[in-house]
Amino acid sequence: MLSYRHAFHAGNFADVLKHSVLSLVLDYMTRKEKGFCYIDSHSGAGMYQLADEYAQKTGEYKDGIAKIINDEDAPESLEPYLSLIKSLNLASDRSTDPSADISTDTSNDLDVYPGSPGIAKAFVRRQDSSHLFELHPTDIQHLEDFCQRWRKVFVKQSDGYQGVLGLIPPPSRRGVVLIDPPYELKEDYHKAVKTIIKAYEKFSTGTYILWYPVVKRELVEQMSYTFTKSSIKNVLQVEFCLESDTDEYGMTGTGLFIVNPPWQLTSQLEEILPYMKTKLGSDDTSYTLNQLIAE
Ligand code: SAM
Repeated sequence: MLSYRHAFHAGNFADVLKHSVLSLVLDYMTRKEKGFCYIDSHSGAGMYQLADEYAQKTGEYKDGIAKIINDEDAPESLEPYLSLIKSLNLASDRSTDPSADISTDTSNDLDVYPGSPGIAKAFVRRQDSSHLFELHPTDIQHLEDFCQRWRKVFVKQSDGYQGVLGLIPPPSRRGVVLIDPPYELKEDYHKAVKTIIKAYEKFSTGTYILWYPVVKRELVEQMSYTFTKSSIKNVLQVEFCLESDTDEYGMTGTGLFIVNPPWQLTSQLEEILPYMKTKLGSDDTSYTLNQLIAE
């Protein structure tokens, strides 16, 4: 089953959390000269046009990135993420209007929104390599197009869980793995955690980021439980719920498990989460930040 298309959801509140964390992790990795390997098990299309029928049909980005992109009071911790989205949109303005003056253009209109490969591309350097997996026949085509002028990127139309395990440990012994399944299949909840547990056995110093939706609370609890029963150390769990848990169908919140997070990530998220609640949430919105497993 491959019906999920991230184009419907690009730039929503869940992307704001996931991509701001990814930006902070990648920003941290580039502080050392030594190269690292970025692995994206479920890449999506790479870049999204917000004017297209998918994004316009749901309008999810309007309740996500659009609410904060021009906010001058955004916390410093969001700077790597927000400045990247702004620069991509400035570049997209210039490509549609070659006469636009770079120095005076402050429109920041949102035309494009990056997927996780788009975020990674902005951070990786010559010495870093990137491995992107995607199964969907249309999105793999978009992803390949997006990656055309990107050096040291390897794109594969194959299963991302197996892909991660085949690349671990990376020769540089420095790596960031993003696991971001669509959760169309219930087995994704278990498979995603198991993949990290197996990868960690071979590469315990890597940073792993696992995204999840809050749809049914017991599925999230099962993931946390499986992590705590494993040999993995140092897991941070962050969650942002727009609404309280419910038995109705639909995503009410989003979260991430981050194995071996950069040391400043907790304090950065302590800034980001209340800000997100103020800008994107309501009285029903809540968030948690929890060191699920100690170092
Ligand atoms: N990581 C992307 C981002 O942040 O922009 C979004 C990814 S989206 C949530 C999940 C993607 O995984 C979909 O594009 C879907 O086609 C793809 N997919 C589903 N099962 C897969 C698998 N086993 N291996 C690789 N990709 C898969």
